[in-house]
Amino acid sequence: MVVIITNNETKKGRDDNRAFDELRPMKIEAGVLERADGSAYLEVGGNKILVAVYGPRESYIRRLLKPNTGVIRCRYNMAPFSVGDRKRPGPDRRSNEISKITAEALRPALLLENYPRSMVDVFIEVIEAEGGTRCAGITAASVALADAGIPMKDLVVACAAGKVNDEVVLDLSEYEDKDGQADVPVAIMPRNGEITLLQSDGNLDKEEFSQALDLAIEGCKKISEIQKEALVSKYGG
Ligand code: UDP
Repeated sequence: MVVIITNNETKKGRDDNRAFDELRPMKIEAGVLERADGSAYLEVGGNKILVAVYGPRESYIRRLLKPNTGVIRCRYNMAPFSVGDRKRPGPDRRSNEISKITAEALRPALLLENYPRSMVDVFIEVIEAEGGTRCAGITAASVALADAGIPMKDLVVACAAGKVNDEVVLDLSEYEDKDGQADVPVAIMPRNGEITLLQSDGNLDKEEFSQALDLAIEGCKKISEIQKEALVSKYGG
């Protein structure tokens, strides 16, 4: 914990000395896998995330298909070596929840009506985790979907804000997530401002929640520029 003394006030700073509204350094690369229809690699802080997209394609799981639109299915997976304590391989309650909310966050951006009876599969592999992987996964998945050439209204972008040491801060690290008082992951479509994911874990009063939401939306807008740069550097402006 860092202690900062300003105007005779003692404030606990962030562990990595970031300002309350500062994102961790992020980089995104589009089109990193040969065999996937679309892919992206994202690093933010200590997170390393790879996303592969397949489709729209036929699926042998007929009951999941819809006659008048395509469907999106996501699988979020954490590698056993991605965290300090070995993670037991395979799906669990947390990864099932993140897979579900990721599909729900991305779906409103996709124009799947032109692909009836088809499936888009999104595989999110967390290779190293350091807090905020659900948001990083959504941000990377959106770039991978664009890389796959799937028509979209906008790139969905996600970022969390939360409360740590009684202060509302942006983009919680793993330590801040574990030690903090609240975490609010948010995903938006920046073009029309539509919120496609809003979760809240922990305790925030009305004012703090509203500050966290505003901060997360500002964070999303900054990250959205990095998404666009990744696609421009792959495909040109
Ligand atoms: N984490 C972990 N082991 C697990 C699950 C999570 O060490 O089995 C860590 C990981 O760094 C993750 C963080 O705890 O990023 C916070 O997890 P949370 O469920 O809040 O989701 P996230 O913040 O990654 O979206």
